[in-house]
Amino acid sequence: MTITEILAKNRGDLENNLRSLLAKPVFIIEMDVFALPCGCKGVTVNTRGLQYDDLEIFEEHINGYLKKTSENLEIESSFLFARLVPGTAEIASLNSRVLCNRCYMDFSRGSGKKPRPDIYILNFERRE
Ligand SMILES: [Zn+2]
Repeated sequence: MTITEILAKNRGDLENNLRSLLAKPVFIIEMDVFALPCGCKGVTVNTRGLQYDDLEIFEEHINGYLKKTSENLEIESSFLFARLVPGTAEIASLNSRVLCNRCYMDFSRGSGKKPRPDIYILNFERRE
C-alpha cells in the first residue's frame, strides 16, 4: 500500500472505532502526517463531534485506538494528546507526535494532563 492508502484505511478504521465506542456520529474530517522545521513529526487526526466528556469517560479506549493508528503509520506512540478548543467542549484533534529534543524539554517541564489550556495529554513517555 502507498502512504496515502495506509492513511485512508486508518482514517476509516479509527472513525468506525470511535463511532462504535461512543455510539454517535463522530467524523474524522482529515488525517495528516506532518514534519515540522524543529524536528517534531507525527500525525494529526482532525475530529468533529468528539467532546471533552467523551475523552474523560473513554480515555483508555481512545488512547488505545490512537496508539494503534499511530503504530500502523509507523509513528512511535510516545506522546499522544488531544487538542482542545479552550472555552468549549469540543476536541479539535487527536495527535501523535514524536517530539524533537527541544519540544520534549518544553513538555517534560510541565506536569499533569493539561500543561496548556489547549492540550490534554493521553500518553507521555519520559525519556531516560
Ligand atoms: Zn519540535
